[in-house]
Amino acid sequence: MTLLLLGGTGESREIAAQLRGQDAVISLAGATRHPAAQPLPTRIGGFGGAEGFATYLRDAGIHAVLDATHPYAARMTQRTARICQAQQLPYVQLLRPAWVPEPGDNWIDIGTEADAAAHIPKGSVVFLGTGRQTLEHFANLEGCAVICRQIDPPEKPFPFAGGRYLVGRPPFSVADEVALFRDLGVDFLVVKNAGGAPSLTKLTAARQLGIPVLMIARPPRGDWPVVATVDEALTWVRAL
Ligand code: NAP
Repeated sequence: MTLLLLGGTGESREIAAQLRGQDAVISLAGATRHPAAQPLPTRIGGFGGAEGFATYLRDAGIHAVLDATHPYAARMTQRTARICQAQQLPYVQLLRPAWVPEPGDNWIDIGTEADAAAHIPKGSVVFLGTGRQTLEHFANLEGCAVICRQIDPPEKPFPFAGGRYLVGRPPFSVADEVALFRDLGVDFLVVKNAGGAPSLTKLTAARQLGIPVLMIARPPRGDWPVVATVDEALTWVRAL
């Protein structure tokens, strides 16, 4: 039985470590230039769309798919759930529970990246904890000092005036984030509700500093099977 593990998250690395030596392959999108070494045979890069993915599943003799992509990798998840259903392959998504605000938090829920500008006055210092993939959607923040943190050094100039990249590889402690936001004079934080402990530190730092957080809504969930933790995902694998 060959399992395809769709990776790109800390959980996918943990699962890969637990499945070491078993008949499984991990797939990474190739978004990070120097991804950490994986404990399983690894393929890197897109499959070439839905058709390429369906063909890969057949050619590689995949029997089941564990989707441990990021909660906002919505295209990949929706497509994989649909194709697995069509090919009658067992499929499950590992989806971390979303963060919920705590006393002292000042979160403003927004639907999409483009809505951020409606809440942020010109001249503000805005820290984007959202990665670079969707950066162009923030172009209407022109007139603000926008800082976009990403793992790799930038290959291209920032896509709009007033913005800059900041290179940093997680994890970041609360103390790191507090010091950084203070140094930069951050007025607003924009984040995705990724859930999970490692990137919660930026929200704790924002609470401590009284920085408002614009929280981008999670993609809608379909009716495919979902588990919430690495342990549940491994139980699902063992039951195959
Ligand atoms: P996406 O919009 O759902 O997918 C875009 C395309 O990336 C897919 O159509 C597929 O290309 C390729 N792809 C995505 N995940 C893949 C995987 N595990 N293996 C091989 N190809 C994959 O995804 P995204 O939001 O761009 O995220 C890309 C990757 O970065 C994901 O693996 C995700 O876990 C990780 N990530 C995303 C975020 C985020 O905020 N979205 C944050 C942290 C990490 P083809 O159509 O060519 O097959």
